[in-house]
Amino acid sequence: MVLLSLDIDGTLEVGDPPGSIPLRLIHRARELGYIVGSSSDRVVSDQERLWQRHGVLMDFVGHKHKLDEVRARFPQATRWIHIGDGNADEVYALRYGFEFHWVHEVPEEGAPGWIF
Ligand SMILES: [Mg+2]
Repeated sequence: MVLLSLDIDGTLEVGDPPGSIPLRLIHRARELGYIVGSSSDRVVSDQERLWQRHGVLMDFVGHKHKLDEVRARFPQATRWIHIGDGNADEVYALRYGFEFHWVHEVPEEGAPGWIF
């Protein structure tokens, strides 16, 4: 099972600044049964407000520097993936055993090993 963690600012279309990942990617991933959540520098309550405002249900809301906690919380996952736009995204993702993708280098649909 895939666990998908997303940075917000500079990564998602609802971020500040906006990034290139559309909310429909979140909906699609959840439809496929993936575990999906946001891992941002924003405080949790701010992230929760954002998702409420956009009618998005998330499986988790956390912080990128605590991706180890996300990993521990979902032991049923078999792949852990984080998408972000900053060096901290890459550092913490790799430190905690996540596959990391830069927001501007997300694989094409159907690419070998990708989740869609
Ligand atoms: Mg960011």
